[in-house]
Order: sequence, then C-alpha cells, then structure tokens
Amino acid sequence: MQKTIRICHLYGNLLNTYGDNGNLLMIQYYARQSGYQVETTIVSLEDHFSANDYDIVFFGGGQDYEQKIVSQDIQRHREALKTYIENNGVLLAICGGFQLLGQYYVAADGQQIKGLNLLDFYTESQDNHRFIGDIEIFDEINQKTYYGFENHNGMTYLQGDLQALGKVITGNGNNGQDKTEGLHYKNVYASYFHGPLLVRNEDLAQHLVQLAIDQINGRLANKTEIQ
Ligand code: GLN
Repeated sequence: MQKTIRICHLYGNLLNTYGDNGNLLMIQYYARQSGYQVETTIVSLEDHFSANDYDIVFFGGGQDYEQKIVSQDIQRHREALKTYIENNGVLLAICGGFQLLGQYYVAADGQQIKGLNLLDFYTESQDNHRFIGDIEIFDEINQKTYYGFENHNGMTYLQGDLQALGKVITGNGNNGQDKTEGLHYKNVYASYFHGPLLVRNEDLAQHLVQLAIDQINGRLANKTEIQ
C-alpha cells in the first residue's frame, strides 16, 4: 500500500490570504515526488483536531476579521497543538496564523486578540501603517536565503531564546527593528512571507516534506520495536 502524508489545513476556509494556499501545492508536490500520496483536510470552526492525525499542519494568513473568529475557536485545540509541536510535529504558520501561535495579537483597530500562547512572543499593531514589500532573509541554521513578499500590520517580538527563521537582509520582518523574521522552534516554521513562501523557496518546501517523512519513519520504527 502506498504511504500517505496527512496534511491538516488549519482554518483553511478562513485564513488563506495572498495565495498562501500555494504552500499546500508545494507540500503536495514534493510529497508525491517522494513516493507518498497526500490527504489534505481542512480543520475549521467546530471541527475536531487530534495531534496524532496529521504529519504536516499548515496555518495560513488572513485579515483581522477572520483572525478574530479563528482566535476564539482555536483555543479548544491548544493542548492538542502543544502536544503536536512538542512531539516534533511539522507545522508551517504564515502571517496571521503565525501571530496566533503567540501570546496575543493587537489588531489594526486596537483590539487585543488572544493567541494560543504556545510560543513565547507577542504582536503589537502599527498606527496606520503596514509593512508591505519584498523581503529577503538569511537562515543561518540551514545556510539558506529565502525570498518573499510581506504585507502585515502586526509587529512581532520574539522573547527569551526563541529563534527567528532568519535575519532580515532587505525588508522589515517581524517588527522592522530587530532584524528578525519569523521563528523556528523544533519542527515549527513561522514566517510573514507570502509569495507564497514555499513556492519561492523550494528548498524549504522539500525540507518540510522531508521532516514529515522522518517523523512518519520514526513512528514506524518505534512500532516495529514494540511488537
Ligand atoms: N491581519 C494581520 C496583519 O495585518 C495578518 C495579515 C496577513 O496574514 N497577511 O498583521
């Protein structure tokens, strides 16, 4: 039987702005290239989410209106998402989805939206201004340059020893001040890049699929040992 990579598109019918769904096409493409079939499920309002049901979770960006709706519903999944992340589950979060992984997000109208508080960061808003334009960063861990397009009001501040995805070469990144862009924690990759991120940065797409395959193989090896 052909092996399967199970993809969860978190709130895919609400958070999917600026072509973010192209990230899914890239994941699906490289999964098939690696000999896997793919199964993609949208988990949205009132749906069930279990940490063991997926090999890759994709959480896209969106407008403040949709983000507010999602921020309320997603609190039900906090524990399951925490388990997923701590067990090295692969998660890609873009812009609005990225912001919701943190403590809070202040929307353009000044309302503070509760985040999942799964990773140590928060997002403030800018007064009547958005970061819009091409962006380039360097990922020191993977020694890669990534290219994208950013369009966000939020200014994100990573806390403690939380690592960025990359260092800003051109553009604004998380907050326009500290040269950080996105974050990288275990197998969680988060970024403000649209473009979409994985279409413009194929190496990263391949890397995420490989991480998911490694997780699947690790689980299979464990099962064999136990039996
Ligand atoms: N609404 C959020 C912001 O403006 C996220 C936007 C997005 O996902 N592109 O910061």
